[in-house]
Amino acid sequence: MNYVFPQNQESIRQIITRYNLLKDRRRSKHFGQHFLCDQSLLEKIVKCSLPFGDADILEIGPGPCGLTRAIIKFCDSNRLHCIEKDTMLEPLHRDVLNGVENCRVIYEDALKIRPQSLTPRKIIIVSNLPYNVGTQLLINWLLDLKDIEKMVLMFQKEVADRICSVPGMKEYGRLSVITQLLCNVEKLVPVSRLAFYPPPKVDSTVIRLIPKAVKVGNIDHLQRLTQYCFQHRRKMIYSILKKYYDEPKVAMSLRECCIEKTARPETIAPQKFLALSEHLI
Ligand code: SAM
Repeated sequence: MNYVFPQNQESIRQIITRYNLLKDRRRSKHFGQHFLCDQSLLEKIVKCSLPFGDADILEIGPGPCGLTRAIIKFCDSNRLHCIEKDTMLEPLHRDVLNGVENCRVIYEDALKIRPQSLTPRKIIIVSNLPYNVGTQLLINWLLDLKDIEKMVLMFQKEVADRICSVPGMKEYGRLSVITQLLCNVEKLVPVSRLAFYPPPKVDSTVIRLIPKAVKVGNIDHLQRLTQYCFQHRRKMIYSILKKYYDEPKVAMSLRECCIEKTARPETIAPQKFLALSEHLI
């Protein structure tokens, strides 16, 4: 059964004030603590991750528990694992999550925890990610997608744009190629900076990522190849690659992958990068 919070539960603003979470601004900035307080927005984000089925849920950075409470509302037999780096939040969590049996908080750096080490079940990740580690967390998960069923993540808008861009767009780059090869990605909810307390300098976007069934043979090589290419996104692919690989092999690989020698990395689709990576290795 899902846990039902009392009707008169404290608002997130009240929790933030009672625990004086923003007292030390240097500290809260260090942890990227910009909190969502709007209940309907929080529930809208959680609804993007439904149905939960029988997966376990993982939230990074529960903070004052706005998103956490919204997730719990939709949990049935699901278990919620939260990872929070700020240990000062422990008394707040003990209080706000008192009585919630299917939720545990682990006080650690999320970069150090492999989601699969938390549970043998499938995992759905739902999180308003801390800005400073959001991209690195996503890359870690992409490189280790086993048992991750889906991810509903809030990023700063500029990062979400890079993840979801298609060839020809100015934000299209390595992150778009690697993410879109491994997952179906969808932009879902634009979130104004004014929805946060305190407001950050930039707007955000919620995106959903669903891992694909594809097998990417050598992801390390693909990462290297895209790094070479997007360092010089406007140069011709042939002239970039011949610096790193044997020239006849580059010419043959481009021909076999139906990529023009004069094509520029910013116009080449993720699937073509994958094919090229497999030819060049
Ligand atoms: N979930 C809350 C919300 O939506 O309002 C808070 C989100 S706030 C943007 C990011 C949260 O992640 C903060 O609680 C912060 O302390 C925590 N955090 C920052 N870096 C972290 C890390 N490396 N590992 C785990 N949690 C982290």
